[in-house]
Amino acid sequence: MSGFSMLRMLPLRQRFRRRDSMAEPRARQARLLRPAAVIGFSIGAGLITGVCELALQEARRLFDGTALGALHLNQHAWWMTPLSLAAILGGVGLSAAMAAWLARARWPLVVGLAVVCFAAAFSLLLVYRGLSNLAYATLALGLALQLAPGAVLLARQPRLLAQVGLAATAAAWAALLLLPGGRDQPPIESTKPAPAGAPNVVLIVLDTVRAQSLGIHGRRRPTSPQLRALAKRGTRFDQARTPAAWTLPAHAAMFTGHWAFELSARLDRPLDDRQPTLAEYLAQHGYETAGFVANTMFGSSYFGLDRGFEHYEDVAVTPVEFARSSLLGRFLLRSCVPALAARDRPKTYFYRKDAAEVNESVLEWLDDRPRDRPFFAFLNYFDAHDPYVPPEPAPARFGAGPRSAHDLEILHDWHRIDKTLQPKRIVALARDRYEECVAALDSELGRLMDQLQARGLLEKTIVIVTSDHGELLGEHGLFGHGQSLHSQVTRVPLVVVAPGRAPAGRVVTEPVSLTDLPATIAGLAGLADQAPFPGRSLDRFWETNLADDDEDDESILLSETVDDEDSDHPSLIQTRSLIHEGKVYLRGKDGREQVFDLATDPREKHDLSADPAVKPLLERFRAMMQRVDERARASLIATELAGNSAP
Ligand SMILES: [Zn+2]
Repeated sequence: MSGFSMLRMLPLRQRFRRRDSMAEPRARQARLLRPAAVIGFSIGAGLITGVCELALQEARRLFDGTALGALHLNQHAWWMTPLSLAAILGGVGLSAAMAAWLARARWPLVVGLAVVCFAAAFSLLLVYRGLSNLAYATLALGLALQLAPGAVLLARQPRLLAQVGLAATAAAWAALLLLPGGRDQPPIESTKPAPAGAPNVVLIVLDTVRAQSLGIHGRRRPTSPQLRALAKRGTRFDQARTPAAWTLPAHAAMFTGHWAFELSARLDRPLDDRQPTLAEYLAQHGYETAGFVANTMFGSSYFGLDRGFEHYEDVAVTPVEFARSSLLGRFLLRSCVPALAARDRPKTYFYRKDAAEVNESVLEWLDDRPRDRPFFAFLNYFDAHDPYVPPEPAPARFGAGPRSAHDLEILHDWHRIDKTLQPKRIVALARDRYEECVAALDSELGRLMDQLQARGLLEKTIVIVTSDHGELLGEHGLFGHGQSLHSQVTRVPLVVVAPGRAPAGRVVTEPVSLTDLPATIAGLAGLADQAPFPGRSLDRFWETNLADDDEDDESILLSETVDDEDSDHPSLIQTRSLIHEGKVYLRGKDGREQVFDLATDPREKHDLSADPAVKPLLERFRAMMQRVDERARASLIATELAGNSAP
């Protein structure tokens, strides 16, 4: 055995003893844990944990097709997540270094490294959802005990630490390349210039705003004077219905003209690219397209709604978004900052931007764009979505307002408390605050219109204002949206202002679906000829040369709760509803059928399904629904096949 091999077999301590006695203190010095090394280790561990987290999430998407949006990722994740964890774990390292300096001891450094290992393990375990905090902590503790001695060894050797850190970071970046490019979409080829004189189009979705709470639909409170003023300039649809009871499928249907059952968009599935979108079609025909969404959860590019938009602003880069971009950051934010959330608008719980912020982005984009092409801008305002907390400063305009900190807390926690247990006063308070949010949003709508006017754009711009779904605030004993198809959820505002086209001040009382929007907008843009959208253009209500009797007997007006038809979702009330001959037909998840008269019973209080006079219509509804069910089954198979064949 050579001398070198023997030396390798000797324990470290002995090896150093054989060296020159003068070198010993230096060698020992080199092996001591230093504060700078602990800080460096912590930051590096954060970066690598962040990349591992992204890689695990991406693996999950590849294996089961889960939308990255459903995993709370956004297009900034590739840098935000590693940096967020580097900041958190680096903070631990820094605290340990300061503690070591204060205590004039090295043990805080060892403890700091152990905490870093624990936090990294905890963070990665959070990728696997559904365990209790205690279970995550116990598992993380076990892992940390395994990892900590290695971490201490590594941190004692700065050169090795730097080498390992560099190699791991390089490997991590290579893994990141696996991630899809978020929303860096290839530019859309414009096949033709826009038709001469083509108007601009602004589509505004007032997320979660129900018709019932608006002045144009009879609400006495001044919740929406701006929308009323806008409606006077255009055509208002009194019975517009959303095709889906929640954000993603409603927007997807509004963008493609297809019924929600024909689309892939689900709670954990993005809208795939089988159906062309309005933005894509307009972009291909010379329009400049841009989307600005405040509902950055389901409106995020990772849910596929950005397809066709050359410019898309969803998640903003803010300190809160940065902090919550990693699972550990989100966990800490939720556990430690409710006090902060209670003071401010609760942005920590919901990915939301104010309408004012959306307006600012839109105007900035408008001012920077070249004026040689018409534009299509899509805006989603999220202010009316719960928690119902109007922007500050907001003295209570409707009702008495919150009486105590407890009232405020309930409003902030609205999405997770059992609302059916709340006293009437609290339900009334929630309704008041919801309508105050609607009013605040309405003022911002007015501000945007003023700004468009000031820029001389309004005369050549089609403005369409609608909502993706409404909200239940105790009616039928229900709250929120997504689980029921009562009119509070499905009946939405729809105002079409198209100067010289849609008659000003006209009110259409016939029920229409938002799936007609892509065909309508393509037509108003002068691009109806090759438009690929299945809906029927709403211009049938004002273009006199159109045959009015082309109503197809097979045509349906459908709304769906979309996701949970086959699931055991406990709160799901209805699955599909149809409107025909002035009546709405609701089919419950339990098979219960209800029929209401649209004109005489808009709040749906008197079920007519047992009325013998309604029986023939009920039979027709059943036959229509059977055809819908059959088509939905075929679509589901097609979606699954498309999903399985996706790369
Ligand atoms: Zn929504």
